[in-house]
Amino acid sequence: MFDVAIIGAGPAGTAAGFDLLAKGLKVLVLDKYEFPRKKACAGGITPKAYHLFRYDISSVIKKECQTIRITPFNKKSFFIKNKNTLCYMTKREDLDLFSLNKIIEKGVDFRVIKKIRSIKETNSSVEIHTDSESFKASYLIGADGANSIVRRLIFSGRFYKKQFAIEADVKMERPDMFQMEFDFSKSKNCYYWIFPKDDHVNIGVYCVDSKVRLTKQLLFDYAKARLHSSNLEAIKGYPLCTGGFHYQRDSKRIFLAGDAAGLTERLLGEGIYFAVKSGQLVARSIIESEKHAVLVQMLYLKKLKSIQADLRFYDLVSKWFYKFPRVSLKLLSFPFVRNRFVNGYADGKTITQIIFGKPYSKKKL
Ligand SMILES: Cc1cc2nc3c(=O)[nH]c(=O)nc-3n(C[C@H](O)[C@H](O)[C@H](O)COP(=O)(O)OP(=O)(O)OC[C@H]3O[C@@H](n4cnc5c(N)ncnc54)[C@H](O)[C@@H]3O)c2cc1C
Repeated sequence: MFDVAIIGAGPAGTAAGFDLLAKGLKVLVLDKYEFPRKKACAGGITPKAYHLFRYDISSVIKKECQTIRITPFNKKSFFIKNKNTLCYMTKREDLDLFSLNKIIEKGVDFRVIKKIRSIKETNSSVEIHTDSESFKASYLIGADGANSIVRRLIFSGRFYKKQFAIEADVKMERPDMFQMEFDFSKSKNCYYWIFPKDDHVNIGVYCVDSKVRLTKQLLFDYAKARLHSSNLEAIKGYPLCTGGFHYQRDSKRIFLAGDAAGLTERLLGEGIYFAVKSGQLVARSIIESEKHAVLVQMLYLKKLKSIQADLRFYDLVSKWFYKFPRVSLKLLSFPFVRNRFVNGYADGKTITQIIFGKPYSKKKL
């Protein structure tokens, strides 16, 4: 019997695992893939996410960006710059393998599993049944991403929403010729990105309107127009789960973290920060509860409040932003507004800390 079973070895699962193992708990991590494995993600890590990791991740950083190019619709691009890093670039397969190795060093029991058939919660434990094996633990953390099976098996209501993104790597001789870029000029409710890495450039499209079909062809057209290349590799699309500020009802022994709990922000689709943060929060709740199941649930929901409030605010901002992109980007082009955002981002602040000076509270609106 394990103290905690975690399904999913992405940023949320490994962050939770690391803190639980550091306190001497017996932890099982289950994933459907051997690592390294490809995960659809542009691998942009904001300073606030970078500093959240309990260990130094600099060895998996391919590039640090101090300049971001913004391209509005029908207007000239402008640049936001800072002397400090605005975004760290990684490859998700490298970051996730690195984090998994960190928890393996700490003694995690990591297993690759086949399909999960059922999850059963009793008064004192949780059982996970796959096609071929069963596992038992005092608590279960569902950190299995946007299509979470834990969420599907345990939750009846739909508290979250799905947005979509598609990405590809483009091999380039000189990726350093490109700036990190958010390009809003091509389509309503969507943006394209260009994220330069060490030996390639990652490009993609993120869309807040789930009715828009994101096709490979969009990426080929964009790569041809902007990078003069059709050398696209590892094209992959995947949903991002937002709306996690509605995540509330939970079982006493089963908790969701990261994308499984809808904890990605809707504006630009940043999810790594919220995954790591929620993983750490659920771990801390289990550690602090001293084995009282009701208390874990209470503590976790209480601790989540501040990031949920943040996400609710991102949601409001994104609705305004995608309705009035020109006005919003115009605002960002004014030095006073731009400097406040850029300095705040580089300092590792959340959007609400930048705007309100402290974490967002509902009373502010
Ligand atoms: C195209 C794209 C680009 C993105 N770019 C960025 C970016 O640049 N920066 C950023 O901050 N965020 C980005 N995101 C969002 C970010 O990828 C996610 O928010 C983040 O990965 C969530 O972490 P997680 O640990 O919750 O889930 P995941 O990273 O999805 O990890 C879940 C893990 O669970 C495993 N799993 C899933 N189902 C099962 C199952 N049934 N059984 C066992 N294991 C299972 C998976 O194999 C995986 O290892 C992007 C998303 C997409 C789709």
